[in-house]
Amino acid sequence: MEISIVQEAGFCFGVRRAIRLAREATGEHDVVYCLGPLIHNRQVVDKLAHLGLEVVADIADVPDGAVVMIRAHGAGPQAYEQAQARDVLIIDATCPFVDRVQQKARQFADLGYEVLVLGEADHPEPRAIVEHARGQAAIVEGPRDVESLELSSQVAIVAQTTQRLDNLQALAAALLPRVRELVVANTICEATSTRQEMSLAKAEDVDLMIVVGGHHSANTCRLAQICQVSGTPTYHIETAQEIDPQWLAEAAKVGVTAGASTPPEAIAAVAERLQEIADNPEGCLHPHKERNNDR
Ligand code: SF4
Repeated sequence: MEISIVQEAGFCFGVRRAIRLAREATGEHDVVYCLGPLIHNRQVVDKLAHLGLEVVADIADVPDGAVVMIRAHGAGPQAYEQAQARDVLIIDATCPFVDRVQQKARQFADLGYEVLVLGEADHPEPRAIVEHARGQAAIVEGPRDVESLELSSQVAIVAQTTQRLDNLQALAAALLPRVRELVVANTICEATSTRQEMSLAKAEDVDLMIVVGGHHSANTCRLAQICQVSGTPTYHIETAQEIDPQWLAEAAKVGVTAGASTPPEAIAAVAERLQEIADNPEGCLHPHKERNNDR
C-alpha cells in the first residue's frame, strides 16, 4: 500500500501564530483567558490548558485586569470595547487574513452596501465579521439562503476565510440577476485554497482519502467535503485510533490531508498507523485470527 501526504497539510500561518502567542502569553502570565477555544482541535486546546490557557465564553467571565487572548477567528468590536473599559489586557491572535475580511465588511457597510457574509451561521469567524460591519450584514451559507431574501439594490459579498470557491461563485451567480450593483470580495485565504486544491488533486489520484482534523474544524470539514466530491471514499478522523483497518482492505494508494488546525504530530501518528496496517494487513484486519495462529 502506498501512503502519501498532501504537501500543504496541517497548521497554517494563522494557527501557528496563534499558538506561538498563546505559549508566550502563558509563559509570562499565570492565567491567560481565551475567548473560545484557541483553535478547533481538542488535543492542542488540552495541551494549552495545561500551560494555563483557560477557555471562557465571554469577556464578562474574566476578572477585571485579566489577560485575554482573541483567537485566530477574531472577535467583534464589543469584546475590545469591554476589555478596554475593564482594564483587561488583550493579546490579539486574530489572523491577519481574518482581520482583512472584517475590514472589508466594515468598508462595504460604510459605503451603504448590504453586506452578505458567506459562512457558517454558528461559526465565530463570520459572526464577528457581522459585528465589524456595524450589524449591517447577514450570514448566508449559500445560494439557497438568498432565494427568499429581500435585497437592496447594492449588495457586497465577503467570505469566511475557509469557504469553498465554488460556493462563493454560486452565490455571486445567484445574486447577479437580482441586484443593480454587486461587489464580490474573494476573501478565502490562500492557505485554505492551497489546501483545498492540493487535497482534491490527491483525492483524484488515490483509492482512499483520510482527512485528519477536529470534527468541529470548519476548514477540515470542508476538505473532507472536497475530497468526497472527487468520488474517492473519504474518512474524516480526529486521531489515528479512529482508523478502521477494514477501510484499507481494497486500497492500493492512500492519501492523507489535514486541516489548518491539525498539529504535525496528529498527521505523523496517522501516517504511522497506516504504515503499520500496510506492513501487517492480515494482523490488522483479522487480529483474532493472528492471535490464534500465534498460540
Ligand atoms: S485558515 Fe487562513 S485565515 Fe484561517 S487562520 Fe489559517 S491562514 Fe488565517
